Amino acid sequence: MQFAVLSLFPDMFTSPFAQSIIGKAVEKGLLGIATHQLRNYAAGRHQVTDDTPYGGGDGMVMKAEPVCHGIEDMRHRYPEAHVVLMTPQGQRFNQAEAEHLAQKQALVFVCGRYEGFDERIRSYVDAEYSIGDYVLTGGELPAMVVMDAVARLVPGVLGNEDSARQDSHSDGLLEFPHYTRPAEFRGEKVPEVLLSGNHARIQEWRRNEQCKRTEERRPDLWQRYTQQHKSDN
Ligand code: SAM
Repeated sequence: MQFAVLSLFPDMFTSPFAQSIIGKAVEKGLLGIATHQLRNYAAGRHQVTDDTPYGGGDGMVMKAEPVCHGIEDMRHRYPEAHVVLMTPQGQRFNQAEAEHLAQKQALVFVCGRYEGFDERIRSYVDAEYSIGDYVLTGGELPAMVVMDAVARLVPGVLGNEDSARQDSHSDGLLEFPHYTRPAEFRGEKVPEVLLSGNHARIQEWRRNEQCKRTEERRPDLWQRYTQQHKSDN
């Protein structure tokens, strides 16, 4: 999977993707991460990427020309690329979208700043994603969130593919609770079933816990899950 990023602050991506699981996947060549400075696509000596909004108002708007030239260059470099605009007005990103994006060969993330993009940029991208109903100062952190969620679904990145399949949200339910040594911590014991060695009982307990905690913590997900399973039967 090839990731490319168009950003005014490409250095923000260096450390998060040089460490741990993602860092190792890059070393192994399972992931490629290329960052591109948006300013390099701006014309003139000052390479200006923003301007005041037509109609007045606070803040600056990212100009259409440099962003559009950047996207065109990305499409030229990565012909298979699916170009994604990060915006709080986009489709809400979730695990199903991560799975959808993980099927692509190359993803380009366009990161905004200031008041966001000139509206005309929207017709040059393939998708628009929001990571939640709040506003951040820039699209770099949202792009990193999406990249991380997609990267761990790329075959070989996690090492154990089952682990991603069991995670919260992958089957519409939250994951079951985990415990590790010691068997008793400050008077609180690990559920006996997990020490039993009985695989079938453990599976059943975990499934029940998944249902219980999804119903308690996320009634919205639980309702969707039960409705889906009712219509499946
Ligand atoms: N004025 C814009 C609005 O109200 O929709 C918000 C602009 S925000 C301050 C600057 C940039 O941060 C956006 O262009 C986008 O790239 C990024 N951004 C901020 N919040 C985001 C979110 N929840 N999801 C995705 N991108 C976000």
